[in-house]
Amino acid sequence: MNIVELGGTGIHVSAICFGTLTMGPLQQNLPLLEGAGILEFGFENGINCLDTAELYQTYPYIKLALKSKPDAVVITKCYAYDAATAKSSFRAAVEGIGREYIDVFMLHEQESAHTIRGHYEAIEYFLKRREEGAIGALGLSTHHVAGVLGANRYPELSVIFPLVNLTGIGIADGNRDDMEQATMQAHALGKGVIAMKPFGGGHLLSRREEAIQYMRGLPYVHTIAVGMQTKAEVLYNVAAFVGKTPPEEAAAGISLQPRRLMIHDWCEGCGKCALRCKSGALRLEGGVAVVDNEKCVRCGYCASACPQFCIKVV
Ligand code: SF4
Ligand code: SF4
Repeated sequence: MNIVELGGTGIHVSAICFGTLTMGPLQQNLPLLEGAGILEFGFENGINCLDTAELYQTYPYIKLALKSKPDAVVITKCYAYDAATAKSSFRAAVEGIGREYIDVFMLHEQESAHTIRGHYEAIEYFLKRREEGAIGALGLSTHHVAGVLGANRYPELSVIFPLVNLTGIGIADGNRDDMEQATMQAHALGKGVIAMKPFGGGHLLSRREEAIQYMRGLPYVHTIAVGMQTKAEVLYNVAAFVGKTPPEEAAAGISLQPRRLMIHDWCEGCGKCALRCKSGALRLEGGVAVVDNEKCVRCGYCASACPQFCIKVV
């Protein structure tokens, strides 16, 4: 698999980056050994880069998998907004993965230059860790075009992680063309670009080949984060995303069924999930939470807000 430099960061990443959200407790909740084994299988097949976040609770899988590849590139994200929360997130990451170095540390779910400003004290903390060599680069992840445009105003945010896909599904404040323009601008500024949600959270699985073709045609994307839960998915994606025909057994083993959000019937209608969802996909109806499947991108973030543990991506 091709390895390229992530913008001007000096960090080198494979054409696809292993998204770990899908194997963790917010989604499939794979047993530890099984999940770590699939990450190691990804390494054996040329992937050198893992995508996680404090929210995902997948550091234990990564810690175990890093035993077979201690120098893998690790990208993580957090909601820190000041020095204290940044320190806590940094410690959680290095202790969680068992390594005193994080390649890319990101502010999670940024919406615009305003939210970046609101988190600047955390950025200052991470910049100090970068100067000490404990962090390779700083960046942000976003579903918003304005999030990318905001990052473009901050040279110290040298990596962006925007939502990019064939139909633009999940982009909160614009369409595919708007996101392409903003991301191209970021690339021209020398930023590293990691694209997320190439299958739109499962909406585009029925157009899988077309969705992959589209992503492969974006010259300003350095790596594409793909969530995977099985070895068949790994084999399929490491072939398909570099333009090869996936092995037959891998193609037969991958699911074409879009995942869906399941809300258990013990929902108490507190509404915390609806407040957490940035896609406007949840509402209360008849005293319980109801999902709009057209808007939901199956990120599973609402599950982390539910005190009754009634939400799962299946
Ligand atoms: S409903 Fe939940 S899984 Fe769907 S987009 Fe909103 S936060 Fe993500
Ligand atoms: S947070 Fe949980 S209990 Fe509250 S409305 Fe949402 S699903 Fe129901």
